[in-house]
Amino acid sequence: MNSLEALKGVGPKTVQTLNKLGINNVDELFAYYPYRFEIFERSNIHKLKQDDHIVIDGIVESIPTLVFFRKKMNKMSFRINTGSNVFVVIIFNRAFLKQRIGIGTKVTVIGKYDKMHGSIIASDIKLSLLPPKPLIEPIYHSVSGISSSQIHKIILDNLDDNISFCEYIPDYLITRYKLINKKDSIIQVHKPADKLMLNKALNYLKYEELFLFMLKMNYLKNMRNHLDGLKREIQPEKIIDFVNQLPFKLTDDQEKGVRHIYDDLISKRRMNRLVQGDVGSGKTVVAIIALYINFLGGYQGVLMAPTEILAQQHYNNLKKMFEHIDINIELLTGKLKQSEKKKIYERLVKNDIDILIGTHALFSDDVVYNNLGLVVTDEQHRFGVNQRSSLKNKGVMPDVLYLSATPIPRTYAISLYGDMDISSIHTMPNGRKQIKTILKSEKEIKDVLDLMYDQLKQKHQIYVVAPLIEESEKTDMENVYELKNKIDRAFGKICKSAILHGKMTSEEKDKVMEQYKNNEISILISTTVIEVGVDIKNATMIVIFDSYRFGLSQLHQLRGRVGRNEFQSYCVLISDKETERLEVLTKTNDGFKVSEEDFKLRGSGDLFGTRQSGDMQFALADIKQDFNMLLRAKEDSWEILFSKEFVNNGKYGKLKELLDKSMDLS
Ligand code: ADP
Ligand code: MG
Repeated sequence: MNSLEALKGVGPKTVQTLNKLGINNVDELFAYYPYRFEIFERSNIHKLKQDDHIVIDGIVESIPTLVFFRKKMNKMSFRINTGSNVFVVIIFNRAFLKQRIGIGTKVTVIGKYDKMHGSIIASDIKLSLLPPKPLIEPIYHSVSGISSSQIHKIILDNLDDNISFCEYIPDYLITRYKLINKKDSIIQVHKPADKLMLNKALNYLKYEELFLFMLKMNYLKNMRNHLDGLKREIQPEKIIDFVNQLPFKLTDDQEKGVRHIYDDLISKRRMNRLVQGDVGSGKTVVAIIALYINFLGGYQGVLMAPTEILAQQHYNNLKKMFEHIDINIELLTGKLKQSEKKKIYERLVKNDIDILIGTHALFSDDVVYNNLGLVVTDEQHRFGVNQRSSLKNKGVMPDVLYLSATPIPRTYAISLYGDMDISSIHTMPNGRKQIKTILKSEKEIKDVLDLMYDQLKQKHQIYVVAPLIEESEKTDMENVYELKNKIDRAFGKICKSAILHGKMTSEEKDKVMEQYKNNEISILISTTVIEVGVDIKNATMIVIFDSYRFGLSQLHQLRGRVGRNEFQSYCVLISDKETERLEVLTKTNDGFKVSEEDFKLRGSGDLFGTRQSGDMQFALADIKQDFNMLLRAKEDSWEILFSKEFVNNGKYGKLKELLDKSMDLS
């Protein structure tokens, strides 16, 4: 009875389309919340500024004129009288409306107000006047084959009073927060009576999302305390010896991280730890020591990188670090011949490989470990936390260590990474020069070229980043190909440049990176594909065009590509827009501070990226806007988890069932 086929107005074809949206049953249909609401409310003309959004209704008082231009474009214009004002309405590419609009037609116009010309550039025209009360229209994410309004119609057609919903929020919390009930919330979110009711509905549903999310996080964390993990017996002297022969002394935070990991690995409790620190703060060596501890404990370890380039880099690094130790390290990448892969698989099962490095190929079906004890995941946000399940399918429950170069201030981290323990590396290794960040407008491009020339003269290398690969009709943002032409015009005589972007094959990309690494190329012009962990010591400058297009944390990540040596390094941000926001980067090199500012300014956008989207994606809640609600949900969820009723499967049995099911633990 929960099946979609049984619904009014839903045939087999629609079922398929709904499936694409992740809607597989009736519950999921009603839980398919709008992502925004269009409020049709007559604008107050006196309050509007140039280019503001406007909604106005009135009577058409001139015959529409229609002109065609270019190949398929057309523009229609007519006058409307609103009773107190007259506007010229202009709408593009709606020639078909001409037949339906004549003198006397009642219309509602939605668009952009051109105050200067007394006109409206309409994005939509409805052939009726506005109702007396503001009309709230829910807007749903759609796919081809079904529109937002079709989804809405299906929901409304089936949303009757007989439907019941499972309430997960305990009664005392409903009372505490003065929430309306779930059924009313669902009805109001799809069919808002007015703004007040909509807000009440949103309050309930957001809180429910956050509450269930936090409950899941804390449940996992709590469970880990009770589940048996791997225990290792290790002579600490061996670790101390290893640390002492490193080419550098660990920073205090690195040392602290190592100590956390050591404690985790020798205890029975399963490790689920995040090491977060800026690019270049030296997370890799912490991971290497972790792998060594795991090896000493007698287990196999893997190090998973998001790209093949990085995997290769890690492999070289580990080989060097473990030169003097009898340990078998191998690299598994997609590039290997089938026969070579097979050889690795065979040795792996026989426990003839101690540390395996690679991309997610490490967890493909063919790979079987002998006694996997530790999984290290570099640049953690590229992978999902749900990777757990792919490990589980392999019948192993190893300790897990994540490395993240998108540091998050502690207050946010403890919420977002509620199920993990966290080690933060704040201090950079000694002797590192601060990167100088310079903000330039597009007019100042000549200065930028001068700065670049200075670096090239010193035989240093430069990254140039643009938001686009190719020219686009829609924007005038810089693209990689055009930039290459410009740069070659400026520097073609003295050095070579090359292009790198995501649409190239991985062989092409690897080849370019190899050349750049060997300093055969001086300027690398790319999209943000270079963002992740690449380590080119001789690169001393990164120039980012249209920087306003990127989040602060992302820019900070990009900036981290340089400054990996004793030379002064530079980050040049070129932008004519949002310069105030970008200023933040000229003032600090501390990723924790940058992400805090990002959070304040832009909302959770970048933070979302720090966790696999599926993990942190809320349909309605917004981590920034609803952060206080998230904190409350966190407290509330602990309260429940520790309550007798929960522990003894009492009245919160429903919740427990949901948790077990959603985590595939049952
Ligand atoms: P990330 O945190 O971005 O992964 P890496 O681990 O790649 O940073 O470290 C960046 C560079 O700093 C590497 O070349 C590494 O060898 C070096 N490094 C790491 N720790 C120290 C230290 N304590 N002292 C000096 N150099 C260090
Ligand atoms: Mg790294």
